[in-house]
Amino acid sequence: MILSLSNGIFSKLSLVGNFTAVKQLGFRNIEFNMKSIKKEHDTDVYREQKALAASGLNCLTLHSAVLHVKDPIEVHQAVYYGKISLECARALHTSLMTVHSNVSKKLPRQIRERCLKEVFGEIKPFAKSLGIKLSLENLSYTSTGFGKNVEQLEEVLGVIDPEGEMGITFDLCHALETKETDNLLEKYGRRVCNVHMANKAHKPFTKENPELKSFLSKLNGYNYVGPITLELVHNTSMEEIAKTKALFEKIFRKF
Ligand SMILES: [Zn+2]
Repeated sequence: MILSLSNGIFSKLSLVGNFTAVKQLGFRNIEFNMKSIKKEHDTDVYREQKALAASGLNCLTLHSAVLHVKDPIEVHQAVYYGKISLECARALHTSLMTVHSNVSKKLPRQIRERCLKEVFGEIKPFAKSLGIKLSLENLSYTSTGFGKNVEQLEEVLGVIDPEGEMGITFDLCHALETKETDNLLEKYGRRVCNVHMANKAHKPFTKENPELKSFLSKLNGYNYVGPITLELVHNTSMEEIAKTKALFEKIFRKF
């Protein structure tokens, strides 16, 4: 397993300040979260490319900008967010992009299906042409988006990925909050290609509690060797992040 930090935690800093903070903590790998880009700058992916190259950091994964479409009129905007995120993933030389279903949980089933088809009908072939794999994230019950448990994710994947090519970004915080950890792992353990790692409410793990221990040993049972991306609430202190980093480095030595 490879330790990584979601740079979304430093999204309020400038891009250079963001990468500097990640480096100060001693991380080598990041998940680039699109919320680190100011809206008015979102088409200038070369600035991100330059800043990343100057930092020497490695971008393992990218978290797409997402819009949980609550009316079909918003489909175009969701497609735009997906495509500009893919452009950024290409510029940062990463081949894995985490996505949400992009549909609101409030949509009726038929409209949800139509919106899913329209959004992913555009994003998927574009991702394929760039050689970027899409990875669907499980959401929490607090999210406005659809896709918090196996039943919902199966519905989404049935529409957007009948070929079964997409990966799964397993968000442990969301799984703990919805109490779906074991169900999700049983169904998708073999498809996981990114992990968002945090305790409930995106609080950092500072010690190895039984839930964390059980999750990691099951994940290891699926021969998972991909990123463990710390995705932490924005008010986590530098000291707490450093402590969490040390904890995971210690845990990884056992695998
Ligand atoms: Zn997440």
